[in-house]
Amino acid sequence: MDFQNDIIEFLGIQDVEIEDIKRFKKDLRAEIIVRQKKSECYCQKCGLQFSTVKEWVLRKLKAPPLGIYQDCTIKLWQMRGFCDDCNRTSVARPHWIHPKFESMTCGFAEIAGRLMEEITCQAVSRIVKADSKLMWNLDQYRMEVMLQFLRLPKDIDVSYLCADEVHFRSIRATNRKGLFAKRYTPEFVTNLVCPSEGKVLFNSMGRNSEALKSALSVLSSGQKLAVEKFAVDMHDPYILAIKAQCPNTEVVIDRFHLAKKINEAFDKLRKIEFKKAREKKDQLSQDMLEPHRRFILVARDADLSKSEIKLIDRLRLANREIDCGMLMVEYFHKALDQKKVRDFRKVLARWYQLCRNTRLKPFLDFAKTLRKYRKNIEGYITSRLTTAVIEGLNNKIKVLKRMGYNYTNKVSFMRKILQRCGYLNHLSINTDEFLFKWPNPA
Ligand SMILES: [Zn+2]
Repeated sequence: MDFQNDIIEFLGIQDVEIEDIKRFKKDLRAEIIVRQKKSECYCQKCGLQFSTVKEWVLRKLKAPPLGIYQDCTIKLWQMRGFCDDCNRTSVARPHWIHPKFESMTCGFAEIAGRLMEEITCQAVSRIVKADSKLMWNLDQYRMEVMLQFLRLPKDIDVSYLCADEVHFRSIRATNRKGLFAKRYTPEFVTNLVCPSEGKVLFNSMGRNSEALKSALSVLSSGQKLAVEKFAVDMHDPYILAIKAQCPNTEVVIDRFHLAKKINEAFDKLRKIEFKKAREKKDQLSQDMLEPHRRFILVARDADLSKSEIKLIDRLRLANREIDCGMLMVEYFHKALDQKKVRDFRKVLARWYQLCRNTRLKPFLDFAKTLRKYRKNIEGYITSRLTTAVIEGLNNKIKVLKRMGYNYTNKVSFMRKILQRCGYLNHLSINTDEFLFKWPNPA
């Protein structure tokens, strides 16, 4: 039996003959020496067969792993031939060599590329024994090409969408104007999320109307009309963009963003009280209001240990403002728990009352925003859309950012989000062809 062709097929190569296979058992490395078939070598310019062989050139290429031999190299004898028609010599270029990364076969590039959809480039470079910078470049190039094949699934349900921004990085201001100017300028990426699929459909740089508009460009005009509910946070540019782009949509403020905002209001109060406690040298309040405890104060009772609850109770007894603040947060959640708009309005009216009575500035400010967006919040009460997906995705993106030890390259960060949390990967785009031949979409 002749297994030659089988091995050639396993390697994802073509039009060659195997001359030798060297195995190095010690480091499980294999070298496959192959030679191009003369009958399959064509002139690069006119595509005709070469008339004469000028010379054979040896080339080393990374190949996909063969069984337990993970480190596989192809040594290719490549032909340089003379073409009578063009009157010149050229090398016969097989299309299974990657056109951009010429030190590897398409099969190897695709297998490494698929690994990089799941883990970091560094990790892949260790697994496949290749240079990490080379792997990074390969990943970037592959994503760029695949972006041209990116299509949303045909049967995707777009009746409910979300838009959310994630923090990309903060740039240190180099020439600050004045002592009170901002030290850092944060940069954001706007993600368009489809909760029913649990995926990021598309994204763009920034957090203004333009950003959301360009993220929405991935939808067809029919799909834009089909959007019924759109959940965003209380951010006017987003709402403007949605109203302009998707006229049939009800803009809804979801619970995740509301909870975030009220926690922010509480945190402002905590800062004020922390300052006061320091001036008064009140040790208990100081300990409890330290920045790293801010999550404990807004956590629900079920998530806390008994000792933490005890401490909080002591603090609430000692500090009236914090007690009121915590009450406001709890009561606000109670309002959001209502199932009917009528009940929601009732509880909210009482919440406003409470707010006026306590006269805590952060909550008075928050009440103003609430009034402004009341209609949109009532949209949440009637639709009761869950926010688990958007929280989960945000968490996934945070992990992604951490795994890359923060990103400096905008484009890379955005594409990586689409790759890990969206449709820019081989599970959504069929890239089986890439194993043999690199596509040429141009
Ligand atoms: Zn020719």
